[in-house]
Amino acid sequence: MYRSLIRMYDRCEHCSLKYERAPGYFLGSIYINYGLTAMTMSFSYILFHIVLGYENREVLPPVIAFCLLFPVIFVRFARSFWIGLDCYFDPEGFSRDDAADDHSAQYTNPPVPPA
Ligand SMILES: [Zn+2]
Repeated sequence: MYRSLIRMYDRCEHCSLKYERAPGYFLGSIYINYGLTAMTMSFSYILFHIVLGYENREVLPPVIAFCLLFPVIFVRFARSFWIGLDCYFDPEGFSRDDAADDHSAQYTNPPVPPA
């Protein structure tokens, strides 16, 4: 899926699925990334501060480091997950987009007029 750290190929090399269906398509993956970061951070804070009794000054530095590093590391997985969700819930959408992108098809295969 990826040609470098965050640059993606346009299509899957096996099934030629187009990854970015429209501009801003991966906005949903940012929600996934943010949600997982916030949930993990909240859970960690509650666990270490309230349950295990660590003080705020001990808990805060690792939590801040996590909030800065995790979204950068997880961006690839969040995008993959977003594409997977989209393929699962809207499988026809991908073929519709492919047909709309293939401008040559409408000129090479004109509709046959009725006899
Ligand atoms: Zn594929």
